[in-house]
Amino acid sequence: MIDIAREYRVALPAWIDDELADAPAAVPSREDRMRLVHRLADRNWREGNGGPFAALVAERESGRIVSVGVNVVLSTGVSSAHAEVVALGLAQIATGSWDLGGDGLPSHELVVNWRPCVQCYGATMWSGVRGLVVAGQGPELEEITTFDEGPVGADWAEQFETRGIEVVRDVLRDEALAVFRDYRKAVDESDEVVVYNARGGTE
Ligand SMILES: [Zn+2]
Repeated sequence: MIDIAREYRVALPAWIDDELADAPAAVPSREDRMRLVHRLADRNWREGNGGPFAALVAERESGRIVSVGVNVVLSTGVSSAHAEVVALGLAQIATGSWDLGGDGLPSHELVVNWRPCVQCYGATMWSGVRGLVVAGQGPELEEITTFDEGPVGADWAEQFETRGIEVVRDVLRDEALAVFRDYRKAVDESDEVVVYNARGGTE
């Protein structure tokens, strides 16, 4: 029989428990939801799990936190294990539904510390969330971190809106950039911090 893997596992790192220990079950303010995302993003790269990215899924009205995600590409060895994909998958496990916009479920939003990359753009669109909240958009993320975000169209937000997914932008934008800058500084200063673009993202 051919020797193939039959399962892959993507899980949150253990330190998430420390970060969530003092977090309330519901975070009604959108800024506070983003503040938690920034905190997780900053710790994530420092812990060596992956890039400086985090996300969470919340119920839009109550602010109840349904899931959180961080980028665990390095710790899992799975290139698609971006924060958004992790948060959305865990929210779907938590709700028992592959459609977060399904009948009988409250309206959900994905909160993330920059506009999703080309992969997570699709993952967000197909997840059933009714809202996407981003700290920022634009070239700064790629300029500062050197990560390649892929060919996301200029009409990305409009495409979400057309599908009934409200896009909220510029929530604690400067704080997002501060996390990226700290990460970049560490990349420049140490061989230990890896930017994991496949083939350097160059070809
Ligand atoms: Zn992504």
